[in-house]
Amino acid sequence: MTNLDQLLREAIELFNGIDNTVELEQAKARYLGRHGRLTELLKGLGKLAPEERPVMGSRINQAKEALEAALNLRRDVIQEKQLEERLVEEALDVTLPGRGLGTGGVHPVTRTLERIQSLFHSMGFTVASGPEIETDFYNFTALNIPENHPARAMHDTFYIDNDGKDGQLLRTHTSPVQIRHMEGNRPPLKVIAPGKVYRCDSDLTHTPMFHQVEGLWIDENANFSALKGVLGDFMQHFFERDDLPVRFRASFFPFTEPSAEMDIGCVMCQNGCRICGYTGWLEVLGCGMVHPNVLKHVSIDSEKYIGFAFGLGVERLAMLRYGVTDLRLFFENDLRFLKQFN
Ligand SMILES: [Zn+2]
Repeated sequence: MTNLDQLLREAIELFNGIDNTVELEQAKARYLGRHGRLTELLKGLGKLAPEERPVMGSRINQAKEALEAALNLRRDVIQEKQLEERLVEEALDVTLPGRGLGTGGVHPVTRTLERIQSLFHSMGFTVASGPEIETDFYNFTALNIPENHPARAMHDTFYIDNDGKDGQLLRTHTSPVQIRHMEGNRPPLKVIAPGKVYRCDSDLTHTPMFHQVEGLWIDENANFSALKGVLGDFMQHFFERDDLPVRFRASFFPFTEPSAEMDIGCVMCQNGCRICGYTGWLEVLGCGMVHPNVLKHVSIDSEKYIGFAFGLGVERLAMLRYGVTDLRLFFENDLRFLKQFN
């Protein structure tokens, strides 16, 4: 019987020396496992005389219970110790300064768009908008670009159905908003239409989606000198240069007559650079007097009213204002680039 007492003492001493649960389970198996020492004693009961069996059996069971109680106690102690260690390790220092979420910023194209809008707003223009999925009629026909007109081929249009005839397409310019606005409103009209446009084109200076601002002023005396005044003022304010030279060159657009390209003196150099092709001039927008056929399409009396329209590329102006030479930077979402504008 001293055997059993000694075994119990040894076991408890062993358990109390262990401080992790894995070793504790291994120690448990040495006594209570299938071939554990206590288990072997139980198996040996059969060899005892019948009258000794119950006495011995109950002593072994008592020893087993004592071992299990000791194990549970030790397990609790170990777990508590581990928890304390973890709490110390993972302690939060509430006095550390916060990491901060960082503030968001406005994208340079949006920033430019807002600047353009606010400058035109100060000259009395309001904002009009229209759908990005347009019909062939609004994108071309109503703008005096009949079927088979070469201007359609120049637009690299994304058609939504296959033949494109009277079908839907992604607008190639913001000009259809002019038509929609003139349909729903009577002169005098003074609006700009900022928005996304789409062309099947992609390289250093072209992306399949870009932003345009269309402008339209229809009134009894919105003549070509008003056009020159508005656009000249706008460019000087946009680039913050009172002495910014501007010039107009004759051009062709189906929806305006006469039509012109507007150039400004290069804002990147004094004596010619790569951006201006060493000419000292930058092409910035297309404009002209609204073609009488366009007015006829929307039932505005072209004998009474005249007006002008213009269209400019927002990314183009953003590139010139911020000195960005690769258009694609605007759309790569590289924070190192974007953060410079905020
Ligand atoms: Zn230049």
